[in-house]
Amino acid sequence: MRLLILGGTGDARALAARLGEEERHSVIVSLAGAVARPEVYGAHTRIGGFGGVEGLVAYLRETGIDAVVDATHPFARTMSANAVAACDRAGVALLRLDRPEWRPEAGDDWREVTDLGEAVAALPHGARPFLAIGRKEIGVFAPRGDLFCLMRMIDPPAPDQPLPPGRLVLGRPPEDPHVEVAAFRDHGVTHVVTKNSGGPWGYAKIEAARRLGLPVVMVRRPPCAGAQTVADTQAVLGWIARLAERC
Ligand code: NAP
Repeated sequence: MRLLILGGTGDARALAARLGEEERHSVIVSLAGAVARPEVYGAHTRIGGFGGVEGLVAYLRETGIDAVVDATHPFARTMSANAVAACDRAGVALLRLDRPEWRPEAGDDWREVTDLGEAVAALPHGARPFLAIGRKEIGVFAPRGDLFCLMRMIDPPAPDQPLPPGRLVLGRPPEDPHVEVAAFRDHGVTHVVTKNSGGPWGYAKIEAARRLGLPVVMVRRPPCAGAQTVADTQAVLGWIARLAERC
């Protein structure tokens, strides 16, 4: 089969690697082009938007895609909604891979909010938050001149992007919570602000907050578009195998 994986996540990389090992299907990974130097996928990779639902329908037809796996980030809901609409129109099978949310554990102090606007409002005057929310939406914190923010993102923000006061650190999240603990101590971090992405990638900051007793302002996931959904790559492989039997 010819498979399209909508990527931009560790799950998509893991799935592409597993399918590459099997060598049974032709796999294309699609990335938005959100980061300048994306991590390497073990599959043919195309980069850039499709041009909305219409563009994706045309792409699915032109490339003869048999099935789509939406393995985009849990907060990339526009792409997920477009995938539902386009696959429906093009008559292509679609599966959503949505990794489980993080859940608070003993020792965690979470304040759950529905969006980043609420996250901004949840921070007390003079807080020193660590912001792990990417570069596109960082501007919502800019009006809070009373904060001192430690901001980490992979690529620098656009030159005209307003930023809150603080320090910018470029890079991917570390896997080791000790590294996060040291960074939070060095910068006098008082709060951690994050989206509930789930998965192992980026969990070190949650562990670090627990160890330091820091409150976490956790943005809940937005509602998901109505696709058949599974929680791990193993379930995706099973779905693909069943589809392949029917083809
Ligand atoms: P989004 O708001 O859902 O999508 C915006 C537009 O970007 C889409 O309409 C589509 O453009 C294009 N796009 C998104 N994902 C794409 C993909 N895999 N392949 C081709 N085009 C894609 O997405 P976003 O929140 O900006 O996220 C962009 C990418 O970064 C996604 O791949 C996502 O997995 C990854 N990511 C997002 C977050 C986050 O917090 N949102 C965090 C980590 C990684 P067209 O309409 O032109 O097709």
